Amino acid sequence: MVKVLNSSQELIQVRNGEQKAIGFVPTMGNLHAGHISLLEEALKHNDVVYFSIFVNPKQFGPNEDFNKYPRTLQVDINLIEQCLNSYTNKKVIIFAPIDAKEIFPTNTNQLVSVAGLSTMLEGALRPGHFDGVATVVLRLFELVRPQTAYFGLKDYQQFLVIQQMVVDLKLPIKIIGMPIIRESNGLALSSRNQYLSAEEREVSLILSRTLSKIGQIIDHKKSNVEKAQSEITHVLKDSRWNYLEIRDAGTLSSDLTHSTKITLLAVFQLGTTRLLDNMQLEIQ
Ligand code: AMP
Repeated sequence: MVKVLNSSQELIQVRNGEQKAIGFVPTMGNLHAGHISLLEEALKHNDVVYFSIFVNPKQFGPNEDFNKYPRTLQVDINLIEQCLNSYTNKKVIIFAPIDAKEIFPTNTNQLVSVAGLSTMLEGALRPGHFDGVATVVLRLFELVRPQTAYFGLKDYQQFLVIQQMVVDLKLPIKIIGMPIIRESNGLALSSRNQYLSAEEREVSLILSRTLSKIGQIIDHKKSNVEKAQSEITHVLKDSRWNYLEIRDAGTLSSDLTHSTKITLLAVFQLGTTRLLDNMQLEIQ
């Protein structure tokens, strides 16, 4: 059964009557197979899944795409219903607030800020972005009170920020990171891919291919990281890269001396569309 709620009051009421294992998938809607993979995992492990669809104004900068971000609520509901058909005795509660006031009732400027992780890389290029993300996710956690919440590793830095927030605030919520779902050509699925022209779609493959190449150069050996760094220096001559970096997978520190797991993090920009991708590697 799928139920759609538009107000936080209704949500709180429904949630109060719920005794079972609750999973939560927060999204901004315009769903694709990446979002559905989170829903499937949540349905496998919980009786009830709360699925929020909310384009959060607090995580967009003043010159970003908040107004043109694709909003396709009815299609999203249909996709969720279709997915739920394969799961008997499970329930999905879609929380799709029509007004931001449902989430931020007093339109306060109070923000949650996860120090350190929020201001590097993506956070340096989008100041305030992760504060907006952490703030809305905490607010949604308060409303939904899930035992488990599911996030995509597609937004790897976001995943770390949320994980850190949960640790810092001692929230009783388990955070699960799910693998990136890609098109068969390697392009990571994203609601923003629809901004790309046919030609840009072709060019966008540089992103996943470059990450694979750097991964191959490293080949799980710390001693190869230097070689990978010189390849990156060469790659970055193309100014369409916002960044391409090798960082520790847990702290995002660029000091890899004690790292056993690293992450490659990259943003490749085509026109105004910024494409994010990443890859994690164990190293010895
Ligand atoms: P968004 O609607 O873009 O805020 O994404 C909602 C959730 O879906 C986030 O946890 C994302 O990391 C996740 N997600 C987005 N794209 C993908 C993808 N290609 N594979 C896996 N998860 C994804």
